[in-house]
Amino acid sequence: MAEIHVIYPVCVLLAVCVHSALAGVVHLEPPEEQESPGTLESDMKLTKEQREAIEADISAQASGVDARKAHADLALRWTDGIVPYVISAESQGDSDKIKEALAYWESNTCIRFPEYDANKGHTNRINFIKDVGCWSWVGQTGRLPQDISIGNGCAYRGTIAHELGHAIGFWHEQSREDRDNYVTIHWDNIQSGKSHNFNKYGPETINSYSVPYDIGSLMHYGAWV
Ligand SMILES: [Zn+2]
Repeated sequence: MAEIHVIYPVCVLLAVCVHSALAGVVHLEPPEEQESPGTLESDMKLTKEQREAIEADISAQASGVDARKAHADLALRWTDGIVPYVISAESQGDSDKIKEALAYWESNTCIRFPEYDANKGHTNRINFIKDVGCWSWVGQTGRLPQDISIGNGCAYRGTIAHELGHAIGFWHEQSREDRDNYVTIHWDNIQSGKSHNFNKYGPETINSYSVPYDIGSLMHYGAWV
């Protein structure tokens, strides 16, 4: 049975431990910026509820209502920050890179990626597949398993780590007006001239779907070259 947890309980955990991942260097990984079929902003697949929430967000903004209430539970979280994973047969050739990306998140946050093992009580898990493009669902959606695609041209540590960020529950959220609820931006670690990448925009901008994907996104921060 899928366990769905809304954002608040683990949000605290993320706020405490994810900020350390922001201290790396800007690293552009273009594959996830290329449009994958059926995605929002190139690489995010959304549930019906998430799409409806985004539409509600737009309506709320238009009518002057506090839009934060409309998307407060948009991203569902994993229990205790534990994200079991499976590497499907078709993705075995990318397993080294996948494991490097998993290790990156583990070394920079308190998120943990154990190999899926039903005997250890795991139910939900992410399943690495080789679909068209690089994409992920956002947060823990209750799909069993929940696919994450590392398609042709996507098997870079930075790209995989980026998609893992979505699977964990991150949007392209450095520009979301509510991002300070999730992360701490370490302004003193941002390269000179890059701070504009951490501007916040209201949902009416985010949801225009036309904001160019920004190389300054925290989702592109990596410790490697
Ligand atoms: Zn993305």
